Amino acid sequence: MRISQNLSGIGMTSQRTRERLLGRLLEQGINDMRVLDVIRSTPRHIFLDEALSHRAYEDVALPIGYNQTISQPYIVARMTEVIVNSGPTDKVLEIGTGCGYQTAVISQLVKNVYSIERIRPLLDRARRNLRLLRVRNAEFSHRDGSLGWDEKAPFDAIIATAAPQKIPPELLRQLNPEGGRLIIPVGGEDKQELKCLTRLGEEYREKTIESVRFVPLLVGQIQD
Ligand code: SAH
Repeated sequence: MRISQNLSGIGMTSQRTRERLLGRLLEQGINDMRVLDVIRSTPRHIFLDEALSHRAYEDVALPIGYNQTISQPYIVARMTEVIVNSGPTDKVLEIGTGCGYQTAVISQLVKNVYSIERIRPLLDRARRNLRLLRVRNAEFSHRDGSLGWDEKAPFDAIIATAAPQKIPPELLRQLNPEGGRLIIPVGGEDKQELKCLTRLGEEYREKTIESVRFVPLLVGQIQD
């Protein structure tokens, strides 16, 4: 599903910086044209507070309040590339909606996306952003992502955009047994490894993608 509306927003400068961002992603090895096209056409500035929107097309993570960040475009592109090139994508679960940027990107390349967030005001903001972009194949829930979303399982892919110290076993259990993938950063605050685990029956094949830095996955409590 494509975002139909052209929310070009902040003028010519933004058009040029948007092209520059695409160049940077290519340089860093993102080469799936579908992913690059979606990043090009998804307005990242609407996900940010006005005071930061002029930086929306820089390849950096930026604050969105509540001690959280909008992910760096490179990492969004990279994780999306892994999802769409590793198998079926009818049902994809995202853990850590934040303001919904990655949800918006994924929604244009997969059939259904389910996204969960522990901070209610962020989830409300994400819902508004995706409505604005006329995204209709995303569902949201306010809950602890370390437990997944059992009612909607099994998933063809699960991506976590916050890092646990150890992989939550419930997420592995909610993968489609025939090739479901879990893409997840694992490790402490300073440094984590982005991993991709593929489920084949009761076996899990693990691959390390690269070193990354995400906010921690906070297990246990949700926040109103
Ligand atoms: N996907 C977002 C990234 C947001 S940052 C983007 O596209 O920019 C990661 C998010 O994970 C934060 O909003 C944080 O609140 C959320 N998070 C952390 N621990 C969580 C948990 N246990 N359950 C659900 N969400 C969690």
